[in-house]
Amino acid sequence: MSIPEIFAENVFNEKAMKQALSPEVYRSLKKAVNENEPLDFAVAQEVADAMKDWAISKGATHYTHWFQPMTGITAEKHDSFISPVKGGGIIMEFSGKALIKGEPDASSFPNGGIRATFEARGYTAWDPSSYAFIKDNTLCIPTAFCSYSGEALDKKTPLIRSLETLNKKAVKVLHLLGKTDVNKVLVTVGAEQEYFLIDRETALKRDDIVFTGRTLFGANAPKGQELGDHYFGAIKPRVKSFMESLNRELWKLGILAKTEHNEVAPAQHELAPIFTLVNTATDHNQLTMEIMKKIAERHGLMCLLAEKPFKGVNGSGKHNNWSLTTDTGVNLLDPGETPAENLQFLLFLCAVLKAADEYQDILRASVASAGNDHRLGAHEAPPAIISVFLGDDLSNALNAFINNDTYRTGKSVMRLGAKILPPLPKDTTDRNRTSPLAFTGNKFEFRMVGSNDSIADCNVVLNTAVAESLDLFAKELENSKNIAEAVHNIVAKTLKENGRIIFNGNNYSDEWTKEAESRGLLNLRTTPEAVCHYTDSKNVELFEKHKVLSIVELNAIEKVMLDNYSRIVKIEALTMIDMARKNIYPAINNYSSKVLSTAMLKASNGIDNKTDTTLASKLSALSDGVFEKAEELSALVAKSNTITDSKELAYFIKDEVLPCMESLRSFADNAQMLTDEKDWPYPSYAKLLFSVK
Ligand code: ADP
Ligand code: MG
Repeated sequence: MSIPEIFAENVFNEKAMKQALSPEVYRSLKKAVNENEPLDFAVAQEVADAMKDWAISKGATHYTHWFQPMTGITAEKHDSFISPVKGGGIIMEFSGKALIKGEPDASSFPNGGIRATFEARGYTAWDPSSYAFIKDNTLCIPTAFCSYSGEALDKKTPLIRSLETLNKKAVKVLHLLGKTDVNKVLVTVGAEQEYFLIDRETALKRDDIVFTGRTLFGANAPKGQELGDHYFGAIKPRVKSFMESLNRELWKLGILAKTEHNEVAPAQHELAPIFTLVNTATDHNQLTMEIMKKIAERHGLMCLLAEKPFKGVNGSGKHNNWSLTTDTGVNLLDPGETPAENLQFLLFLCAVLKAADEYQDILRASVASAGNDHRLGAHEAPPAIISVFLGDDLSNALNAFINNDTYRTGKSVMRLGAKILPPLPKDTTDRNRTSPLAFTGNKFEFRMVGSNDSIADCNVVLNTAVAESLDLFAKELENSKNIAEAVHNIVAKTLKENGRIIFNGNNYSDEWTKEAESRGLLNLRTTPEAVCHYTDSKNVELFEKHKVLSIVELNAIEKVMLDNYSRIVKIEALTMIDMARKNIYPAINNYSSKVLSTAMLKASNGIDNKTDTTLASKLSALSDGVFEKAEELSALVAKSNTITDSKELAYFIKDEVLPCMESLRSFADNAQMLTDEKDWPYPSYAKLLFSVK
């Protein structure tokens, strides 16, 4: 089967809809989607029928409302199409009502206190702006998930709301710039996904990987990533064959999987899709993660999406490439060829700068998780400090522009000013891989997202904060007679007020941490510190003004994120205690008694046994440490169970539980380095990282 033939074969997309629906119904559906209008009931019924017939023709037997609850994973409850008829038979049925609205028993999904348990019902509503698809013989209908009082209980609803406000404000700015042909502004996103691929059988021997998706113990491998021979190196045959199967599955779902390569760390890889509209990109990224895990299993592999699966080895993230496009096909972050296009570019560029500076706290909070805390700021990923990379060329051009100064590009020197705007540097050659938010020619690349995270949250913040900048810019443009002059003033004002957010240097350096502090930029190192900013009054004001999130919803998000953090670390702590008590402590003692019997044997034969006795006493001290720390950790977990306030609990976890885990680990890892590998109960890092050929 050729790739163009299988591409999107399992998606109820434009092509499938045109084939399955009558022209009138197709038109009504498109109109409802484009204008954000509710779907007429008769139309919904016909769409449901057509969708069902299409799905059944592809072998589907069930349907599900596929949604993305606040925890970030996806959820689905399957119902079959069967419906009994008189005489004991069945027919395959799917009603318009079932298409538009579902009522999963939602009590098991986190709601951050929004729903009282006596009113546990939530409902899912079809989001016709993303296509239905078939997965595992089930028709999946992408839906938003809300409480009965209308609050968002998922990640999709705020995303859609943020797109509405951004669209409105951006169109307004464009109209003020004279671009009256534009009716809609859309967000495009390409999410590059990093992941680890290890041998499944080996991985299953480790309780930490099985229960938490990452290693909680483990001494470094003798060969780490310092040789750098993995990145862009030849892809190993087993990995290659995994990637081929993965691509095939993704293509069938219409996911534009494009680039694949090894990453910096051993056993680490990346998959980049071609960008799409953010709503689709969010669904696609969720599906990509799910399918990666499934295909890995089929190939005897395990796909790890944890942000930091191995200590001392680079972690995994996700790069959220973000840009704005008009319905006329113009990328608003593309420096244009003409002065007028440049005005537009400068405005949108400044909108992002202002947004990133003024809402750095929630942008950071949007990527906060227990896993990502191990990665951000660990000299392998951007720090927890938000800054924007523009590159020297563009930074110089901006400064020259506001100072009416001369500006050098290549050989030519130009005078920049409100009246004459020469072409801006296009596709700047300088690249910076350390920046959290880097301008990369015609888009911004947000690199702080964790590999396991949904991309919805950061895009909600980016969209809303940029909408706010554009709203303020629109007011200035409206009050001005000379548009070029107004843009000039806006750029100057933004650079003056928000210029501190621009940093073109090395974000991994310690000097930057110090400089950022002197610039007044926030360094929110951990999840509890970051997440609590969601409900700062300036942020509540932002989200409420743009009707993206209410204070009730913001409180819920904060609570769910904090609870999630505490829950994850607690599971990790319990897993460590179990591993330490049942396997690691006994293993050290076991080996140490072997060493001691050797020592005794040597002594009885008059052979010097100093090495053995020294080793045995070192091991004994380390096993004592392991035992004591496991006891201590166990007491801390017990204490944490008595804390009911989410914020207090998260801080307790960060300040007490995590440091104790760290210290337990260090006793065990030191013992591992002195223990015969045959006596160690778990496969080593070397085995985990270099076992796939
Ligand atoms: P790098 O590895 O240098 O970051 P890649 O080429 O691997 O670059 O990834 C770039 C990502 O950016 C791809 O997913 C690509 O589709 C996406 N991208 C390109 N143009 C846009 C755009 N206008 N809007 C959103 N994403 C984009
Ligand atoms: Mg990238």
